[in-house]
Amino acid sequence: MKYCPACRSEYVDTVKLCPDCNVELTDELSEELFLEKVERALLYEFTNETIADMVLELLDDEEIPYFCQRDWFSSAYLIHGGSPIGTLIKVYIPETHIEQARELTQGMIDENK
Ligand SMILES: [Zn+2]
Repeated sequence: MKYCPACRSEYVDTVKLCPDCNVELTDELSEELFLEKVERALLYEFTNETIADMVLELLDDEEIPYFCQRDWFSSAYLIHGGSPIGTLIKVYIPETHIEQARELTQGMIDENK
């Protein structure tokens, strides 16, 4: 079996490219491969985990693949005040899905600003 590192679809061995994502298929699935193989774009950066989770859920529902990176940041980087230490959640998705995902999540982001 071959797998698309972006959308995680399975394909027979003769298929080389995922027709949906235009991404080279691999023998296994891992986040490293997603990072390595997929032309990805930063969808959003969140400092609010609740909103991030809501957006990720929405992406799940629409079967849009994503990679989520969580970085701790110290108060030195905080612009909006609040807790002295927080998490910066960066959500990456394949470039091919970026417009769809932005449209999908825009309302939710605006509501929670
Ligand atoms: Zn795919």
